[in-house]
Amino acid sequence: MRSTKSVSMRVLGRRSLSVALAAMVAAAGLLARSAAAQEAPPAPQARFVVVLDAAHGGDDLGGKLAGGVPEKAFTLALSVRLRSLLAARGIQVVTTRESDTNVDLNRRADIANHANAQACISLHATLSGSGVHLYASSLPPAEPARFTAFKTAQAAWVTRSLALAGVVNSGLLHAGLAVTLGRTALLSVDSMTCPAVAVEIAPKSPADHAAGAPPIADLDDPDYQSKIAEALAAALLEWRTEAREP
Ligand SMILES: [Zn+2]
Repeated sequence: MRSTKSVSMRVLGRRSLSVALAAMVAAAGLLARSAAAQEAPPAPQARFVVVLDAAHGGDDLGGKLAGGVPEKAFTLALSVRLRSLLAARGIQVVTTRESDTNVDLNRRADIANHANAQACISLHATLSGSGVHLYASSLPPAEPARFTAFKTAQAAWVTRSLALAGVVNSGLLHAGLAVTLGRTALLSVDSMTCPAVAVEIAPKSPADHAAGAPPIADLDDPDYQSKIAEALAAALLEWRTEAREP
């Protein structure tokens, strides 16, 4: 770099050299001014990124939900809805898919791990059980290793994932949703290097259910869907606040 510069200056005439120097000084002044202008606003907040993983997609339909709707369609719709709620609150979102496409588990983990996210949420839906099932990986917590095996990479993050599950649990309960907390081997999450939980939406708890209608119809209910999306967004905002506290 340096030698190239001195060569190019040597070939310039004395006059053009001084013009070039004046231009450089002026440019430096502009740079300094723009740097000062950038420093004027308050210190930038730490980067906060959420990964939304709409499970299944393409040939992988997932389970069959009310009205024959495949799980893959439900998870994508929830991902889209949640993404816009988070974006409206200034949260950067990375998704593993935006359409009805095949995305294998390794690719999903790759996307999540390149995002350096503070929260990774894998979305599922089921007709079994009721309320929202919240899972963290069942891998035993481990110290971060320099070379982590792909399928167990989540082990170094399990403690943070359990903390995230706690915050999401509170958010869902606060919204009046029934929650079942669990730990399980999660193919979608065990390779992720971020605080990660799987959120599986089941029909509303029978107690909340209007008399007469079959409980499985709940998953179609736009009010139920938006309540869940709002509660998840609120929980992620809370998680961001906690993450920023020293
Ligand atoms: Zn699923």
